[in-house]
Amino acid sequence: MNPTIALECTLCGRVFVPDTERHVCPDHDGVGGILDVQYDQAGARDAVVDRLDDPIADLWDLAPLLPTDGNAIDLGAGGTPLLSAPTLSDQLGVTVHLKDERGNPTGSIKDRASAVLASRALASDQSVITCASTGNAAASLAGYAARTGLDCCIFVPADVPEGKAVQPLVYGADVYAVDGDYDDAFSLCRAVSEQRNWYDCSAAVNPYAVEGLRTVGHELARQTHETVPDWVVYPMGNGCGLAATWKGFDEFVNLGIVDDRPRMLGVQADGASAIHEQFSPDSDEATDPNATTQADSIDVRKPHNARKACRALDASDGATVAVSDDEILDAERTLGRTEGVYAEPASAATLAGLQRAVDQGLVAPGDHIVLVVTGTGLKDTASARTLVDGVEHVPHSPDAIPERE
Ligand SMILES: *Cc1c(COP(=O)(O)O)cnc(C)c1O
Ligand SMILES: [Zn+2]
Repeated sequence: MNPTIALECTLCGRVFVPDTERHVCPDHDGVGGILDVQYDQAGARDAVVDRLDDPIADLWDLAPLLPTDGNAIDLGAGGTPLLSAPTLSDQLGVTVHLKDERGNPTGSIKDRASAVLASRALASDQSVITCASTGNAAASLAGYAARTGLDCCIFVPADVPEGKAVQPLVYGADVYAVDGDYDDAFSLCRAVSEQRNWYDCSAAVNPYAVEGLRTVGHELARQTHETVPDWVVYPMGNGCGLAATWKGFDEFVNLGIVDDRPRMLGVQADGASAIHEQFSPDSDEATDPNATTQADSIDVRKPHNARKACRALDASDGATVAVSDDEILDAERTLGRTEGVYAEPASAATLAGLQRAVDQGLVAPGDHIVLVVTGTGLKDTASARTLVDGVEHVPHSPDAIPERE
């Protein structure tokens, strides 16, 4: 039933039989040779067509497209709504929809990856699962580890938001906050995994993370097949999510089920814009190697999946933009106030990026846009606190409450 047929090196094209949990091509230094999972989907086409317009229950809805054999871990990931955004649409002069990933079991899109990773870890009898994460992937993997009874250790940067550190602890994982940034957490996780033979679920290196994430592309194809969006906007850290969204959507077109593909708009923060600089080398963005961003989920200086992301951007005739932290936080407040959607900074970066793309004329008036709202704002109230007025302390007296104007 598992439709996986091969793992292909994204650097040299060498092809491996997917019989072991191999994660990188041995012909390159370190984790340079990230692998891409390839499928034979001919057998799944009928199932996909039959269910095209059915409500989407969850991520296992199209299990024949996933690289797992059974072990459909039921925590409720996927099957997320595509919300209209009428006020934003009016303000921007385009038609905006929000693919709202906040309702996933641990509050972010990472649950799509973790569901598949945990399923593979169970099938291959792993004892300890681990990942390096800016926060959401850690919380997510820890939740799935709890659900499946797997032992879980995670590595996060020292400045991880409090909510993202506490959440995996509640799920029972051991959390190591590494002296340094995400890149340091990643390299330590990698070194320990190799030494102790732990199962490294870091999205940056484990190809099956992208495979779970691509279900968001499948769902978007199902939800928009009558009017395919002109653009899908995704925030990029390592670049896995954008690559995965494209891969999933593109599969539906290749299967002959959907006619058109969207263009991908990748958004990065000024303080962590390596993919943007690689993809749009002519942009005059200043590169400061010491810069960071408050949008912690995309605060990645050395993206490990830049190659997959750039390929997706290329293939989709896409584009990238980089936005400032002020624009990102402003967009977070705007999303809350216009549509009642409280998203974390990385997710709000999509709105800041769309605004920029409209101003630059990249997105045309009337275009149909989907913003992927990757995670909830509730895990990081500290950054949002700077955006809003404080609460007013009042005595218990009606006279203390002013009339509304
Ligand atoms: C992980 C994450 C991203 C970025 O995804 P990449 O695959 O690293 O590019 C964006 N938003 C949220 C909420 C995330 O958790
Ligand atoms: Zn290779």
